[in-house]
Amino acid sequence: MKKLVIICSVIFLCLVGFYIFVLRPEKYVENDLYEDILKRDFIRVGINTDSKPFGFIDKDGFVQGYDADLARYIAQYLLSNNSKVEFISVTPANRMLKASTGEVDIVIATMTITPQRKEIIDFSIPYDSAGQALLVKSSSKITSIADLAGQNVGVIWGTTAEKNLLNLAPTANIIGFKSYQDAYNALKNGSINAITSDDTILSRFAIEDNTVKLLTKRYSREPYGIGFKKGKYSKKLKENIDYAIRDMKQKNVINRLHKKWLG
Ligand code: GLU
Repeated sequence: MKKLVIICSVIFLCLVGFYIFVLRPEKYVENDLYEDILKRDFIRVGINTDSKPFGFIDKDGFVQGYDADLARYIAQYLLSNNSKVEFISVTPANRMLKASTGEVDIVIATMTITPQRKEIIDFSIPYDSAGQALLVKSSSKITSIADLAGQNVGVIWGTTAEKNLLNLAPTANIIGFKSYQDAYNALKNGSINAITSDDTILSRFAIEDNTVKLLTKRYSREPYGIGFKKGKYSKKLKENIDYAIRDMKQKNVINRLHKKWLG
């Protein structure tokens, strides 16, 4: 009788083991973002579509720009097909949340790598960089950050410039905008006296419109990184993306993208 109980127990344990490890293995393997993307066969990329020349919608409705091209290169590396990208529109104010909740797999949106942000999400190695600058009307008397005291200064909510301005010009009136276009319209209609953000983004307004100018001084260094959900879940993806960025730098792809979109 005792023997029978032992045999039955062993058979039972074997069946349970077979069920757990053979029939339903996926339930017991920890999720991994890289594997999830390979399985899904496309990557969801958060991009700012209001920040020409990095992300914008062209006249045919397609997402274009430096960050869009970079996303397509990443898709080529990960999935051997540069069209396997789903673009999801993000803003500087919501991109951290979208990366940390997993609503997007990665964020490519002129996002500066900062120690504060690194506490919430992980970043790739930098792919490019910018500097904080000031955009003013061509007729403006403002020549540097020191002239912003008491002036209305536009920032985009959620950007590094929004935070930096508090230290750089503590007596300026900070006016927040959701988009670059809204801030530009406010500068044009005179409700603000300057906009501060990355030179790479503000310069196109000065190129396209000679009634505004970009001042020459820079007030920060802004290394751009690709953002992911923090932790082990995205570790393998980060390794692969870092490898892709290193390879793109070595093969001059990043230089070509920089020249194509920023001149
Ligand atoms: N690079 C800056 C930032 O990460 C500003 C650019 C932007 O995303 O609008 O906050």
